[in-house]
Amino acid sequence: DAQDLALAQELARRAALALDNASLYRDARQAIRLREEFLSIASHELKTPISALQLQVQSLLAGLNRSGAAFDPERLKRGLERVDRQVKRQTLLVNDLLDVSRLSAGKLELVLEPLEMGALVREVAERFEQEYARSGTPLELVLAPEVLGQWDRLRLDQVFTNLFSNALKYGRGNPVHVSLEVEANRARLRVKDSGIGIAKEHLPRLFHRFERAVSERNYGGFGLGLWIARQIVEAMGGHIEVESVLGEGSTFIVELPRG
Ligand code: ADP
Repeated sequence: DAQDLALAQELARRAALALDNASLYRDARQAIRLREEFLSIASHELKTPISALQLQVQSLLAGLNRSGAAFDPERLKRGLERVDRQVKRQTLLVNDLLDVSRLSAGKLELVLEPLEMGALVREVAERFEQEYARSGTPLELVLAPEVLGQWDRLRLDQVFTNLFSNALKYGRGNPVHVSLEVEANRARLRVKDSGIGIAKEHLPRLFHRFERAVSERNYGGFGLGLWIARQIVEAMGGHIEVESVLGEGSTFIVELPRG
């Protein structure tokens, strides 16, 4: 009768509420776990290069103190180059952390200017070429001409740098194909590697903060780059996505309105 029906409805409502609460609780627990894991990775990632730096500087100083004028300048140069690389790496990590707090506070201020996207892609690729000078960079570019639009140069550079560096890092040394095309009023950049790929279950959370798909730590990194890239692309009214097959490779696609 009516009373039973009301009771049943009330019970159903409470059950739904309890389910909601349970899933909220699970999400919160998951967020806390990610944050804790992130903190431990972050401190490790920041500490390792600092310890290495300290050792290198100490050994250079010890060498200088021992041999004075007889010190081999080549050795000093190599040592300082190593120090330079470590400092750069450290700076990248710290910049990522700063970006995350800025972006989380919604403080990303874009500086839009007229750009030719292909030229910027080439510029970023050339920076990697210098790093890969000896082995030859595996970046292969196919760029449509005159991809003009209004974008934030530094932020776009940052997105491309992140995607190229991931493709090279996870690309198993295979060529990385970068293509740029225009469709209607949108520019589309694809970065395709034939590397380790990403497992299906990791794909939905890849652009989230603190997510790292590979459990092995030896790749380094905070798992912040793609989240930052997504924030930047979306702030410019665009969209970023990934297609990937584990063991075969990944393609990251960035679409931006030409503004
Ligand atoms: P990280 O600094 O850890 O590389 P990212 O946000 O750039 O952070 O990437 C997040 C995770 O996504 C990486 O740890 C890696 O597991 C996975 N990933 C990103 N790009 C690729 C790629 N091209 N191939 C395979 N895995 C990738």
